[in-house]
Amino acid sequence: MTDSAVVKRAQELRALITQYNREYYELDEPTVPDAEYDRLFRELQQLESDYPELKSAHSPTQKVGSQPLSAFTQVAHEMPMLSLDNAFDSDEFTAFAKRVNERLDSAAAIAYCCEPKLDGAAVSVLYEEGKLVRGATRGDGQTGEDITANVRTIRNLPLQLQGDYPQRLEVRGEVFMPVQAFSEYNEKALARGEKTFANPRNAAAGSLRQLDSRITAQRPLHFYAYSMGVVSEETTLANSHYQRLQQLAEWGLPISGEVKQVSDAQGCEAYYNEILNRREQLRYEIDGIVLKVDSIQHQQDLGFVSRAPRWAIAWKFPAQEEMTVLKGVDFQV
Ligand code: NAD
Repeated sequence: MTDSAVVKRAQELRALITQYNREYYELDEPTVPDAEYDRLFRELQQLESDYPELKSAHSPTQKVGSQPLSAFTQVAHEMPMLSLDNAFDSDEFTAFAKRVNERLDSAAAIAYCCEPKLDGAAVSVLYEEGKLVRGATRGDGQTGEDITANVRTIRNLPLQLQGDYPQRLEVRGEVFMPVQAFSEYNEKALARGEKTFANPRNAAAGSLRQLDSRITAQRPLHFYAYSMGVVSEETTLANSHYQRLQQLAEWGLPISGEVKQVSDAQGCEAYYNEILNRREQLRYEIDGIVLKVDSIQHQQDLGFVSRAPRWAIAWKFPAQEEMTVLKGVDFQV
């Protein structure tokens, strides 16, 4: 490509990705399959890497999510809520694991915490003195939407913690709609002539961002915690991400039963194959797995880049869906 063709293509990609972000994050109505979005995103990342003069802080490759909607009160995240870098095959995961060892200047095996990549919406839930006091969306990573009234309606999310919990605890996790509940919801909505959702992810994200929490309360939403945000008594916390998830469970927070600690990168490969084989049997949709360096000390040493931590990666499953629109009802098949 000539230089001017490269600039033109980068502009096209930025405009398209910005439009798709708005449809996906703000309107909860994507018009292209995730696989297509991921291809365009990768193409833009590659161009920006090949032609560093194209790099810009305003590029969608440097940003997380989308602006919070003004209809909601805004919540400034004390710790940013980031995205995740992706691997699409074993070679890309191996390259990630190699970089981790190199950055830690370690030839030793690195333990990982392996988790399903739940396909829903990220939320931050704040507990003070054990009471749920605030729920927020990720928004653009720095500022989210206050959805406290809505998260209070999620049945498996405790309003009161139990046990020896910290005085102030921010939990991060995914709100999702189990597949069976999603199908039943759409069938009923269709029968009533109401709007149906394209997939469980959009159903969860759309249900969470209702201005009337009575509507959210009628939606079959679930929550699984996958990390801690700000915590008042840091010293009481384990130095292992996996152990911290167990601490959250002790305080009454639901975590996925599929979370597993492995002693090295080979363990992550085995986990990928195991979960991919059981993907259809899980009661919720996942679009891959998330692999996190288990030691919190190592996580802190590795740090972050603009939109993602260096100590975690989402290893995506092969795309199984193409989007079609049938008689006014969106399906992913
Ligand atoms: P992401 O979904 O690739 O990864 C980050 C998110 O993963 C977190 O915010 C969290 O919500 C979620 N997550 C699930 N399980 C987790 C776990 N165990 N630990 C940590 N996080 C976990 O990132 P993103 O920035 O939200 O979205 C990018 C992806 O969204 C794209 O790759 C694409 O698939 C999709 N997307 C699609 C469109 C479209 O138009 N179709 C538009 C925008 C984004």
